[in-house]
Amino acid sequence: MKPAPFEYVRPATLAEACALLAEDADARLIAGGQTLVPMLAMRLARPARLIDILRLPELAGIREEDGVVTVGATTRQAHAEHDPVIRTSAPLLAAVLPWVGHPPTRNRGTIGGSIANADPSAEIPLVAVTLSATIVIATARGIVAMRADDFFIGAMLTALGQGDCIIAIRFPVWRQPRIGVGFREVSVRRSDFALVAAAAQIALDDDDRCIDVALGVAGVGDKPLRLNVSSLIGGRFDAASVSEVVHAATRDLETTGDLHASAAYRRRLAATLCCRVLQQARDSAAARETAR
Ligand SMILES: Cc1cc2nc3c(=O)[nH]c(=O)nc-3n(C[C@H](O)[C@H](O)[C@H](O)COP(=O)(O)OP(=O)(O)OC[C@H]3O[C@@H](n4cnc5c(N)ncnc54)[C@H](O)[C@@H]3O)c2cc1C
Repeated sequence: MKPAPFEYVRPATLAEACALLAEDADARLIAGGQTLVPMLAMRLARPARLIDILRLPELAGIREEDGVVTVGATTRQAHAEHDPVIRTSAPLLAAVLPWVGHPPTRNRGTIGGSIANADPSAEIPLVAVTLSATIVIATARGIVAMRADDFFIGAMLTALGQGDCIIAIRFPVWRQPRIGVGFREVSVRRSDFALVAAAAQIALDDDDRCIDVALGVAGVGDKPLRLNVSSLIGGRFDAASVSEVVHAATRDLETTGDLHASAAYRRRLAATLCCRVLQQARDSAAARETAR
């Protein structure tokens, strides 16, 4: 199918893009186009005007300062996947990116586009929630910084208002020397959206005791969730303690079933994957050298 006719504009500045967006309720931003273009082709979206933000300088670049990695919204997923700052300082994001779609979709798709799209199974929103990232948004009220938890409201639903544009995503850097990450997803085919995905990041001290932990899960509800497993902090973990804590954290997950998987299967899968990613993260942290 072919898209319905639309006007295409490429503003030179962020201010111009936001003004164009705010003045026209039928306008849509386009970044990598990997979600929007198929929607246009199937006429699931029929914007009168597309505002191309891909080359706006304000939305570009990856930088680390003051314990935060800031990823510009229009950073291509493939670029972030191989970026040395992301690999060193946002290792969980680096670990999930190879699972986002396929190399051709990652060559065009952007980090900000995935966050704005808010698919409940998407990997990049999962990392943002797991690590308590901050979404930086240009709004009519000025620049707003919002916690990922507050940004994602439901399936394909975010706190973005008419005229708002994501500028960047800020991922906190864990400074501990012994950090490990874990990621697992189950999908029908490799690179499909996940049925369920889980992500973990762990920091260990020199005695292999957990000093920080973050765990998140996607595909079990209408948005990614961060799970509370803070009771692992202070201990060395083994399979039994991990299983007990994960069981408590996932017991009350509100899961819905669909054509692809029942609610009960998703809940069981979430618990299994959470145990595996915690163990994977723990093992990779333990393999790092101690300061002694
Ligand atoms: C075959 C295929 C497989 C895929 N598999 C996966 C997968 O496994 N996991 C996964 O997570 N994704 C997957 N995707 C989606 C892909 O990763 C997209 O890149 C991503 O969802 C959207 O990013 P984009 O830059 O292409 O956004 P676009 O398609 O350009 O835009 C998507 C939406 O976000 C809005 N938007 C974009 N940028 C901004 C911004 N800065 N501020 C505010 N709103 C904005 C647009 O208006 C639009 O509504 C797949 C896509 C395809 C085609």
